[in-house]
Amino acid sequence: IDEKFDAIVVGAGPSGNAAALVMAREGLNVLQIERGEYSGSKNVQGAILYADALEQIIPDFREDAPLERHVIEQRMWTMDDRSHTGMHYRSDDFNEDKPNRYTILRAQFDKWFSAKVREAGALLLCETTVTELVRDLKGKVIGVQTDRQGAPIMADIVVLAEGVNGLVGQRSGLREEVSPDSVALAVKEMHFLPREVVEARFNLKGNEGVVIEAMGTITKGMTGTGFLYTNEESISVGIGCIVSDMTESEVTPYELLDAFKKHPSIRPLLEGSECKEYAAHLIPEGGYNAIPKLHGDGWLVVGDAGQFVNAVHREGSNLAMTTGRLAAETVIELHRKREEMSEANLKRYLARLEDTFVMKDLKKYKGIPALLHGNKGNFFGTYPQLISQAMQTWFRVDGVDKKSKEKAIMKNFRETRTLRGMLGDAFKLARAWR
Ligand code: FAD
Repeated sequence: IDEKFDAIVVGAGPSGNAAALVMAREGLNVLQIERGEYSGSKNVQGAILYADALEQIIPDFREDAPLERHVIEQRMWTMDDRSHTGMHYRSDDFNEDKPNRYTILRAQFDKWFSAKVREAGALLLCETTVTELVRDLKGKVIGVQTDRQGAPIMADIVVLAEGVNGLVGQRSGLREEVSPDSVALAVKEMHFLPREVVEARFNLKGNEGVVIEAMGTITKGMTGTGFLYTNEESISVGIGCIVSDMTESEVTPYELLDAFKKHPSIRPLLEGSECKEYAAHLIPEGGYNAIPKLHGDGWLVVGDAGQFVNAVHREGSNLAMTTGRLAAETVIELHRKREEMSEANLKRYLARLEDTFVMKDLKKYKGIPALLHGNKGNFFGTYPQLISQAMQTWFRVDGVDKKSKEKAIMKNFRETRTLRGMLGDAFKLARAWR
C-alpha cells in the first residue's frame, strides 16, 4: 500500500472498531489492520455487552446487531466446595424498550461491528500482523511495518488497539511488558442446549437472560472469579485467575474450569449440554495503577492495550469502545484544525478520558487489585468458607436455639480469622472501595 493514511488502527476488537468507525465516519482516511482472519476471529469474551457505550457510537445498533439475550437478573455468588451464598437482583424494569445489557457471541458481534466500520469507509486489512511502529528521525511515529512484504505503511497517527499483550507497543519501546500480577488468564467454554431448556432452567421468557458472577474456593486460593452467562441457545461458562497465582499453583486452567463445572451449584445448570467451544484469553486486571503510557508523538493507546478493564464490575468492552471513541474524537479535532499529532496535542485524549466513567471508575477502585491479591487466602478462601458455614448453621433446623447458633457463628469467625483480622480486612476493603 503506497498511500498515506490519516490514521492507522492496529486491531479490530471493540476498541479498534470504535476508533476506526468514528474516524472514518467523519471522513478521515482510515486503515485498520487485524492479524485474525476476520474481526472477532481471535476474540474471546464471556460476554456481556453494555449498551450505553455502543449507543454512543451506533445509536440504533439494536436494529441489526447480533444480540443474544438482554440481562434481567444478576446473581453474585460466594462459593465453597459444596454450596453457594447468593445475592440476586432481578427486575422487570430491565425488560425495557432499550435494554441496558445483553449477552453476545463475540465472533458474530465483532463481525457485525467490523461491517459497520467498512460501511463508514475504513479500509480493513485482515490476516496481517503489525510487527512494529515506524518512526522519523525525531522519534515520532509515522507508520507501521507489517509481516507482509513491502514498504512500511504511513499515517499521521497510529491508534494501538492491539489488546492486552500490547506487543507492538512493547517492541517499539513505548511500554513495559505486562506484569503477570496485572493480568488474569480466563478459560471459557460454550455449552449448547435447546432454547426452551435454557429458559426453563433459569426462569426466563423470550429473550430475557441471567448472569452469574462467582468467587470463593472455586479458584483454589487464587485471585479470580468464575462466571456463567445465558445466551439464546447456549451457556457461556468460564473462570479466570491472576497469571502469577496460576504460575505458582499446581492447578491448570482446564482443571479449574472442570472443577467449577462439576460444582454442585453449577453442574445442574449445564446438565445435558454439548460443549462446542473452548478458549483461553488474558484479561488486564491491574486497574488504574497498571495503565501504561497512553500517548506520544504520533500514537495513542485504547482498550485492553491500555489496561482499560474494570475487574470489580467485570466491564471491559464498554471501556474499550469508549476509549476508542475518545481517541478518535481527539484525532478528528486535531485533523480538522490541521494541528500536529504531537504528544502535547494528543494529551487532549487524556483530558477526555479523565472526564468519563472510564478513569473515574478505575481511580475509584485503584486499591482493589493489590488488596485482593495481597489477601487472596482470606478473600477467596477463608471468608467464602466462613459465610457458607454460617449459612449452614443458621438455616439448618436441628433443635439448637437461635441464640446458640449466633454464638457458634461468631465463634467460628473469631477463631478462624480473629476479630482484629476481620476489622483490619473490613477497614482495608472500605478504604480501597471509596
Ligand atoms: P481485543 O478484543 O483483544 O482486540 C484486539 C485485536 O487486535 C484482536 O482482534 C487481535 O487479533 C488484534 N491484534 C493484536 N495484535 C495485533 C497486531 N500486532 N497486528 C494486527 N492485529 C493485532 N468485557 C465485557 O465488557 N463484558 C464481558 O462479559 C467480558 N467478559 C470477558 C470474558 C473473558 C473470558 C475475557 C478474556 C474478556 C472479557 N471481557 C469482557 C473483556 C473484553 O473482552 C475486553 O475488554 C475487550 O475485548 C477489549 O477490546 P480491545 O479491542 O481493546 O481488545
